[in-house]
Amino acid sequence: MHASPPPQASPPCPLCGGQAFHVVLEGARDHVWRKPGRFALARCEGCALVITRPRPTLEGLGFYYDNAYSGQSEEATRHFQLSSRLGRWISRYRLAVLAKVRPLSPADHLLDVGCSYGGLIKAAVEASGCKASGVDLDEGSIRRAYQPSAGPPVAYHHGTLDDLDAPPGGLSVITFMESLEHHPDPMAALRRAASLLAEGGLCFVEVPNFNGLWRRVFGRFWLPLLIPQHLTHFTPQSLAAMMRAAGFEVRHQQTMFYPLEGVASLGLALAQCLRTPPFGAPPSWRTPFDILVFLLLLALYFVFEIPSQALLHLLGLSGHQAAIGALKGSSDEQPRK
Ligand SMILES: [Zn+2]
Repeated sequence: MHASPPPQASPPCPLCGGQAFHVVLEGARDHVWRKPGRFALARCEGCALVITRPRPTLEGLGFYYDNAYSGQSEEATRHFQLSSRLGRWISRYRLAVLAKVRPLSPADHLLDVGCSYGGLIKAAVEASGCKASGVDLDEGSIRRAYQPSAGPPVAYHHGTLDDLDAPPGGLSVITFMESLEHHPDPMAALRRAASLLAEGGLCFVEVPNFNGLWRRVFGRFWLPLLIPQHLTHFTPQSLAAMMRAAGFEVRHQQTMFYPLEGVASLGLALAQCLRTPPFGAPPSWRTPFDILVFLLLLALYFVFEIPSQALLHLLGLSGHQAAIGALKGSSDEQPRK
């Protein structure tokens, strides 16, 4: 255990540059891996964007990412994304949302930012025959990411969108699946995406929905909050505002149906009360009582989570959202003079 948590910073608003904030949630902590450090969520007085503030410095973030996304479960994560029924369903679901604006075709070149093992890329290439590239900070997942058995290979870049060597305007679709909220400067990332897209190119962003009902109920225990890795907490309004500021015309917005929210957040709250070991701890640490609570939550999941998530999704109050923007200045759908 770290004796003292890493240093923190309080940056200005990434959307409007404002310095005036009011705190909307105090005492936010890492409730999943239980690493030390207390943070707050603050709303910008200029544009209403909610960010983690104070938050870890760039160097400090490494401490919170360490062993959080890779490690022992690496092979299981790869299998989930590329081969499991559920993982493949999630990728196809995302492509179906994209198709509400425009389906992919063999002429497209898609770039997935935060691509991990290439689950979305695999689904996109298999469904449409498009060209694809991926960017991720995790070198381990890039090395073992999906490659098609035939056709052009997928180009993966270990790093960020900023240091990706790509010609301006060379891409037609850029996707940020649950990655923009991790970015230290999401505005800069969207502007960079805009510079890489061709005219009319699409930017598809999926992030947690800070307006979700379970967020209001569970507060700091809401699973998609994921403090402190998540640095920006978008509402549908603030996501659309940032995409517009980066040069996109928002063509489609919706919530997403991901039934892993209410009961999982309840589990996080209970784990805190019962002082059960953090996520990733060896199972032998668990007592029979912990196992009983887990089984009760599992039963609750099946009778409650799926119907409640379906209802919240219908009402636009589920915990995840998608927005698709088209790069302004596109030649299609321009009013004729
Ligand atoms: Zn602001």
